[in-house]
Amino acid sequence: MRQVLLVRFGEVHLKGQNRPFFLKKLTDNVRKAVAPVGGKVWLSDSRIYVSDVDIEDAAERVRRVFGIHSVSPAWEMEKDFEMIAAKCVELSKDLKGTFKVMARRSDKKFPMTSMEMNAEIGGRILEANPNLSVDVHKPMHEVSVEVRDHAYVYVGEIMAVGGLPMGTGGKALLLLSGGIDSPVAGFQLMRRGVNINAVHFFSFPYTSERAKEKVIELARILGTYGGGMRVFVVPFTEIQMQIHEKCPDSLGTLLMRRYMMRIANKIARQHGAQALITGENLGQVASQTMEALGCTDAVCDMPVFRPLIGLDKQEITEQSIKIGAYETSILPYEDCCTVFTPRHPTTKPKVEQLIEAEQALDTEALVAEAVANTESVYV
Ligand code: ATP
Ligand code: MG
Repeated sequence: MRQVLLVRFGEVHLKGQNRPFFLKKLTDNVRKAVAPVGGKVWLSDSRIYVSDVDIEDAAERVRRVFGIHSVSPAWEMEKDFEMIAAKCVELSKDLKGTFKVMARRSDKKFPMTSMEMNAEIGGRILEANPNLSVDVHKPMHEVSVEVRDHAYVYVGEIMAVGGLPMGTGGKALLLLSGGIDSPVAGFQLMRRGVNINAVHFFSFPYTSERAKEKVIELARILGTYGGGMRVFVVPFTEIQMQIHEKCPDSLGTLLMRRYMMRIANKIARQHGAQALITGENLGQVASQTMEALGCTDAVCDMPVFRPLIGLDKQEITEQSIKIGAYETSILPYEDCCTVFTPRHPTTKPKVEQLIEAEQALDTEALVAEAVANTESVYV
């Protein structure tokens, strides 16, 4: 008998012709997640298993793998009923309140049915522990038995992040600022299996080295869900200065956003990404009205995903806390956007106005120079 981590995946997404591809990706991703602690990982009969590691530690790592529904530290043993029942009684000895036994027999050669196991094991648990009573509808504890290639016994299930296996949804580039929104936006796409890298526009010395480190820390936090990512740090001061000097003040933010999108689009192409992701949210600020979003989209030739578009700030904040980014996101920092924020930004811009304002700038050269001087950091 030994302890293993029993890992469940979201069955619904894994049907059809793609199933073998998804399962291989998912198993590989679990393997990568426990590689730092040297766990052994295998797939057998609709479950993934992890052994030869500290099981609690492995559970914490595997919970963060996209495509995983839940995990349970379990005892693996021979398919011997007496052994199974004894383990169930042992695992229940400190429980209080209500419980039920949930037996699943996928090996139909096993001599007892699930119902028979439930009844017999339930009886033995009740006999051994007077603090427990049975509730088959809403039990406080579920004592589970799975009879497959071996028998597995466990109590309870730890929920995981869900979603689809990383690497099955294509590649995208996240515009990552130091705020609350963009890390949440990135997480949303990662959860759908999208591999992401990040781009950050850095306006030194208007924004400090510390602001850059904060963004890299946010990328590192996101990376813990998907095995690392690359952050492209783009020098953005020159473009901002020129917009500030040569263009109408009321269009400043929007012009800046159009340059960000142009550069992001170019970097995305260079690295095989098929879409851009931003943390924009309808109506949150002047540059996020429908007209403004249309003007920024106009410079891109790939889809721009804005997964937070319809959420309230409260909902975004809750997600930020849940993914572990919030504490970092709220650290004080200067946003490159706030330094040059116009006093009276246009909320209903027209693309023609922006194109006209951009006549004062050598767009192609500015974009090329920014891309050429981009640094990349792997986190
Ligand atoms: P966030 O909380 O993500 O900073 P925000 O509500 O502050 O968002 P804006 O500052 O208008 O909104 O930025 C909108 C989006 O543009 C951000 O969510 C992000 O995707 C992108 N963005 C803004 N500033 C930068 C930057 N310096 N580098 C990279 N992307 C940026
Ligand atoms: Mg911001």
